[in-house]
Amino acid sequence: MTRVAFLGLGAIGAPMARQLARRFDLAVWNRTASRAVAFASTHHGASQARTPADAAAGRDFVVTCLPTSNEVEQILEGPTGLLAGLQRGALVIDCTSGDPDSSRRIAQRLVEAGVGFIDAPVSGGVSGAEQGILTVMCGGSAANVEKARPVLEAFGRKIVHCGDVGAGDAIKAVNNAMLAVHIWAAAEGLASLKKSGVDPKIALDVINSSSGRSNTSENLFPERVLTRAFPRTFKLALLDKDLRIAADFARAQKVSSPLLQLTSELFRAARLALGEEADHVEAAKLVEQWAGTEIR
Ligand code: NDP
Repeated sequence: MTRVAFLGLGAIGAPMARQLARRFDLAVWNRTASRAVAFASTHHGASQARTPADAAAGRDFVVTCLPTSNEVEQILEGPTGLLAGLQRGALVIDCTSGDPDSSRRIAQRLVEAGVGFIDAPVSGGVSGAEQGILTVMCGGSAANVEKARPVLEAFGRKIVHCGDVGAGDAIKAVNNAMLAVHIWAAAEGLASLKKSGVDPKIALDVINSSSGRSNTSENLFPERVLTRAFPRTFKLALLDKDLRIAADFARAQKVSSPLLQLTSELFRAARLALGEEADHVEAAKLVEQWAGTEIR
């Protein structure tokens, strides 16, 4: 049986690991060990590893899903780090929404140890992970992406080889920057309509049959803003991180990108105002505060 390790049982990591536990012999590691202990005790065939090195030992595939590439780099080195446990020929699949430069650095470090690497960030949210229907955007060699495919199929429905290492990260950052633009634009537009006396529910009904519609207008605002539910599924802090990656990426490509730079600043302000635990859609609350109204 293929032996897989999963590191990072967070909001999206845990349901992804759950899908893997159904198909593979799975070792799980989490910084807060109690989460890995609870996971192993409730998932048949899953075992808890005490360190990243223990998780990687004897595994064909090691999947990481941490907040940023920095944390992935941090768990690589040292006597308990991934590199101390990884066997030659293993493949690291990094599902973190990382940054392309760091991923290239990590890939290089692993190559020196005879270990392969692909960046494989995901989209589809916690519910997509629970249903095993995520989109997975892969950067790396075609051979490594094909090798990873059976593992990725446990939680992914659309698995795309995007280019060399870093290409998956770059697309993910641009995707999420577009998500952020949609959230902010919807919040400003709907707050204006609300203040003019238009019911935001009616406005969204119209927009969702018109050319301004997006996942934000079709799903996020009706389900999370109008209801005031604001469930915490994807941290605003993580979207802020994605925007910074996208804004830096555009600059590095010498693309004039005033909208990405501004949106990055706005989400940075929202993160500062709303805190590290706020959900990404809660950014709309800052727009509401500035407008002196609620979109409901
Ligand atoms: P969470 O904040 O819910 O979980 C983060 C995970 O990383 C936890 O397991 C946490 O461990 C661990 N961690 C944090 N800091 C460290 C560290 N210094 N060393 C080791 N482990 C650490 O994040 P998500 O699961 O939401 O996101 C993970 C990645 O997936 C991010 O890159 C995010 O952008 C991306 N993503 C998230 C989506 C979502 O809907 N949530 C959707 C698509 C992509 P501990 O339990 O100890 O805190």
